[in-house]
Amino acid sequence: MKEISTSEFESEVLNSGKVVLDFYSTECPPCEAVAPKFENLSNLYGKDIKFLKIFRQQNRELADKLGVKSSPTLLFYDNGVEVGNRLTGGVKRGEIIENLNLLISEQRKSEILSNIKPITTNYDVIILGGGPGGLTAGLYLCQARINTVIIDIALPGGNVSTTHEVSNYPGFIDPQPGYMLSHNMSEQTKLCGTSYKVAVDVTKVDLLKKEVIIDEFETVKAKKIIIATGTSPNKMNIPGEAEYKGKGVSYCATCDAKYYVDKDVVVIGGGNSAVEEADFITKFAKTVTMIHQFDKLTANMQAQEKLLSNPKVKVLFEHEPRAFVKDGDKMIVEVEDLKTKSKSKIIADGVFVFIGMKSNIEIFKDSLTLDNWGYLKTDEDMQTNIPDVYAVGDVVSKKYRQITTAVADGTIAAISITKELN
Ligand SMILES: Cc1cc2nc3c(=O)[nH]c(=O)nc-3n(C[C@H](O)[C@H](O)[C@H](O)COP(=O)(O)OP(=O)(O)OC[C@H]3O[C@@H](n4cnc5c(N)ncnc54)[C@H](O)[C@@H]3O)c2cc1C
Repeated sequence: MKEISTSEFESEVLNSGKVVLDFYSTECPPCEAVAPKFENLSNLYGKDIKFLKIFRQQNRELADKLGVKSSPTLLFYDNGVEVGNRLTGGVKRGEIIENLNLLISEQRKSEILSNIKPITTNYDVIILGGGPGGLTAGLYLCQARINTVIIDIALPGGNVSTTHEVSNYPGFIDPQPGYMLSHNMSEQTKLCGTSYKVAVDVTKVDLLKKEVIIDEFETVKAKKIIIATGTSPNKMNIPGEAEYKGKGVSYCATCDAKYYVDKDVVVIGGGNSAVEEADFITKFAKTVTMIHQFDKLTANMQAQEKLLSNPKVKVLFEHEPRAFVKDGDKMIVEVEDLKTKSKSKIIADGVFVFIGMKSNIEIFKDSLTLDNWGYLKTDEDMQTNIPDVYAVGDVVSKKYRQITTAVADGTIAAISITKELN
């Protein structure tokens, strides 16, 4: 692995066979997450492919010329020609391997893959999920000198990192951008010394053995596991939804509202998230049409009143979407009037779906006791039915799911574990 600068780009990249180039920055958590994967893969693929790094902040002109807008960005070259996909953000090991394999023969590919040696790492506690619940547990455990690792399939932060503003987390006079609040939580826990394995594929979780296999080659073992995997948005499960996800259908206003300046947007839902996110979307869009199955919104009154007083917003009560269809740049939402059963079409530029959340438990649900809605049952120490397996945050069976309730759960689980391990 070698560090280059702009003056070497031509000789080291364009005139140099097979190359992977990592544009990185400092103070960049996703760059820190990709660095060990890059180094590990350079040991495996280094004979066939040159692994290069370039510091983006000091090579801005080259980055701009190549259209590199964020760090990290990984580019793959075969004899001066860029190939494969550019990888940015929470880059996974599997994604890098997929692109590296494009540069070598099938035979070398199988030789290299057969050289991957499984490894085992040991901790006192594994925390699955780095949202507010997991990060808080990580902070408390670390401060109690308990060897802890946080494993997340994405970058840390959880749902808060995609919430545009948080105004109800104590300690801040002004509303905080969600990404900043989650960044600070994550940095606080990391600076304490908690280990992170993030943007990884969680291949297998064995709760009885307290083992987690990540990226298909690393077995992480511990004495105790905390499940903090939170929730994901529910899907409508109607025609066109999966097909146009990310191409007109979105589940994250913070991520995508900016693409709808002066456009017509449809928001599906009527609870707190839908109303708060619709309000945020009005900062960008020309119109927001909400589609809600009931005859009134179910969000808190203050948020409802704010939204409904906005002239950009119209609500179609007692309607449900039946399909999303793409027509050129437009998204057509086919809706049914639940009272008359008549169908109509709304022409929009984009659709946002906010119809509640479901618990992220697929990978380990078989052995755990769940409530009727698929959330994990725990005792007052946040322990599940399996000894030494705890659950915290939104994944837990409870009445109210907020950042404050998630951090409270994380605190309780960590203190309980600390007492047991000491
Ligand atoms: C749009 C929106 C707006 C919100 N606004 C507010 C607000 O203003 N105030 C407030 O208090 N609350 C708000 N909430 C709720 C708040 O975000 C949650 O209560 C909180 O994030 C729960 O934290 P958590 O740690 O339990 O889970 P999450 O934040 O969901 O984090 C779970 C983490 O687990 C990871 N994960 C998932 N599956 C796996 C797996 N198999 N293995 C490893 N890791 C995994 C995920 O990548 C994620 O990082 C909002 C939620 C949404 C969706």
